[in-house]
Amino acid sequence: MSSPGSGSEKIETIAVIGAGTMGHGIAQVAAASGFRVLLSDVDRESLARGVRAIEGNLARGIERGKLTEEDRDRTLQLIHGTTNLAECATGDLIIEATPEKLELKKEVLRQLEFASDRPFIFASNTSSLSITEIAGSSKRPEAVIGMHFFNPVHIMRLVEIVVGEKTSAETVETVKSVGRKMRKEPIVVKDVPGFASSRLGVALGLEAMRMFEQGVASAHDIDTAMELGYNHPMGPLKLTDLVGLDVRLNIAEYLHRELGSETFRPPEILRRMVSEGKLGKKSGEGFYDWSKENEDARRAQSS
Ligand code: NAD
Repeated sequence: MSSPGSGSEKIETIAVIGAGTMGHGIAQVAAASGFRVLLSDVDRESLARGVRAIEGNLARGIERGKLTEEDRDRTLQLIHGTTNLAECATGDLIIEATPEKLELKKEVLRQLEFASDRPFIFASNTSSLSITEIAGSSKRPEAVIGMHFFNPVHIMRLVEIVVGEKTSAETVETVKSVGRKMRKEPIVVKDVPGFASSRLGVALGLEAMRMFEQGVASAHDIDTAMELGYNHPMGPLKLTDLVGLDVRLNIAEYLHRELGSETFRPPEILRRMVSEGKLGKKSGEGFYDWSKENEDARRAQSS
């Protein structure tokens, strides 16, 4: 049995809890980096869907010449699916990617600690919840940390390591080293609302909305300012359309409440567009008109 120490070499098995959008991607990159992976979900069908999504990503990798069939087979052989949460307590590092509910994440950790006394590290992929609160009722809060991956996990290079009040330096070092082995670039951030990525990204998005509201420039020109002037791959208004205006509004309200900064007060235009059902790409309209693109996608799917 291996025990977590300060390097990724101490981690042999990574258990991923929740096989949804994030969990399947985390399992894929962990296995592709040579870790043994236990992928678990409460729901058998979600687990199967997660495994199919991994197979699809790998098949596309082969089509694009980025992976060989051997890479695919090696990765898939390292992934074992389970619907038994207790089995995940055999992992050296457990990465939790269940829905964004504090009580659920605490309960998952409680059940794992009940299942085994092994000194595993518990990392949450939460995008907004407090790591210190998740660790609140843990027997070993020094081994609880945030490991915030980005969607799609097999493509996005950032992993935000979130350090709770009681997280040990050893846990931080181990998780950073695992992140690097997964070919991600880890950044280390204090456990504050919005961590580093959402706080900066949302601030930029909200200011872009205020500029659009004030008629400073068109949505396209505001985005072009950031794309061509600052080398951002995508402007803040287009990105808001992709994330969803409702999702952005929730995060802005949360950050405004928690940080008490006017930077995060949701602009009037954001509230109005959400109340009118203009949620961005998913509804067909946001700062841009996506209706044609949605129609094309529907047609492609049905043909
Ligand atoms: P999702 O809804 O796609 O997947 C969650 C999965 O967890 C589901 O398959 C569900 O069946 C499973 N699940 C629910 N309860 C469980 C339990 N008790 N044990 C095991 N599995 C359980 O969610 P997601 O988008 O993958 O998000 C997961 C986490 O990642 C959330 O905390 C979210 O905030 C965070 N996150 C999401 C994104 C994103 O873009 N989707 C990005 C970064 C972080």
